[in-house]
Amino acid sequence: MDLRFTPEEIAFRDDLRRFFREKVPAEIRRKVAEGRHLDREDIITSHRILNAAGLATPNWPVAWGGKDWSPVQRYLYTEELQRAAVPLPLQFNVFMVGPVIAAFGSEEQKRKFLPATANLDIWWCQGFSEPGAGSDLASLRTSAEKRDGKYIVSGQKAWTTLGQHADWIFCLVRTDKEAKKQRGISFLLIDMKTPGITVRPVITIDGAHEVNEVFFDDVEVPMENLVGEENRGWDYAKFLLANERTGIARIGLSKQRLARAKRLARETEAGGRTLWEDGDFRRRVAELEVGLKALEITQMRVVANQRHRDADKPDPASSILKIKGSELQQATTELLLEVAGPYALPAPEHDRPEGWNEPAVSPEWADAAAPLYFNYRKVSIYGGSNEIQRNIIAKAFLGL
Ligand SMILES: Cc1cc2nc3c(=O)[nH]c(=O)nc-3n(C[C@H](O)[C@H](O)[C@H](O)COP(=O)(O)OP(=O)(O)OC[C@H]3O[C@@H](n4cnc5c(N)ncnc54)[C@H](O)[C@@H]3O)c2cc1C
Repeated sequence: MDLRFTPEEIAFRDDLRRFFREKVPAEIRRKVAEGRHLDREDIITSHRILNAAGLATPNWPVAWGGKDWSPVQRYLYTEELQRAAVPLPLQFNVFMVGPVIAAFGSEEQKRKFLPATANLDIWWCQGFSEPGAGSDLASLRTSAEKRDGKYIVSGQKAWTTLGQHADWIFCLVRTDKEAKKQRGISFLLIDMKTPGITVRPVITIDGAHEVNEVFFDDVEVPMENLVGEENRGWDYAKFLLANERTGIARIGLSKQRLARAKRLARETEAGGRTLWEDGDFRRRVAELEVGLKALEITQMRVVANQRHRDADKPDPASSILKIKGSELQQATTELLLEVAGPYALPAPEHDRPEGWNEPAVSPEWADAAAPLYFNYRKVSIYGGSNEIQRNIIAKAFLGL
């Protein structure tokens, strides 16, 4: 197995590196690097810069603006994007609904949705999970009944990320209550402006509004918004979830965070010396670097294998990438929390006495450390929880 890059691959990587750093606004990249929340406009601006250069949807079919890249090129793209702290193109559009419509949608759906989805003229959100249907997704109960040539949708979706910004939602709905649970599910596209839809915010532990509950109360959906065949939605969902795993290890992101923690540790005083001079701290950094290197080599092995296998079929090793990748992402946020030390404690402006005009004692970067740490508890849950990934490893590798 050859894990070295060819000269052409290195040139490809260098071009991307230059593009991401020169073309995506530094202010947006700074927010990503510091782990701050992006607003809607930041995400749209960055996404459209990538799309204008043909770099938002490289995983799509070439006919619809994708790239005929090798697995190595795809890997380099994701790695460089994350290392440059460029916001990922909107995942719901690029890795989820776009490929599903391209593969299973009607010609009319392709024409109507794909260009607008690629350019983020339509912002999609994902309506799969429900209360009681997360890991066991096939138990979902939101129903779509046919009445007067329309689907009437009723039920509730949970954890809908960035649903507050979305124009459309792609949903799994139950169209046959009698069939075996995986057999009675369909994939519907629903305009969020349709009467009967209510979006309710869920504020997460870091104080952010990132996820929502979405309620459907007799929502009328035209039949032409069904993707593919009725009751085949589970097959399309499996295809979508395989796509979702692309770049799940987020190695470039963890590398970028670790480099930042090292730089900040050199600037941070602790007990009359810098934190970087503390051997115990450096040992922990070294452990993380070793873990990250091992993960990177595992990722490269998966990529090298993809040179010879069907790239559309997920490698069960991607479960290992998900588990280790999420653990390392969480560990880097913990390290940053430690560098911030007591300055990570929140000091809300409204708690200050009236007329307070003292300069802040803490560095500005430190106030993002605790929210980031808490926010990243999510990475071992979404995209298939780490326990579910362990079940996959047990079955696929260990034959248990
Ligand atoms: C921040 C965030 C954003 C999300 N965004 C979206 C979104 O945009 N759209 C969407 O549709 N969904 C979204 N999700 C939902 C996500 O996919 C689910 O949370 C996830 O699938 C787990 O489901 P659950 O929360 O119902 O937990 P449950 O499935 O109830 O699991 C609870 C616990 O039990 C464990 N468990 C469950 N089954 C097994 C088993 N068989 N063996 C061993 N352990 C098991 C789980 O690992 C977990 O620890 C999001 C979740 C989070 C946290």
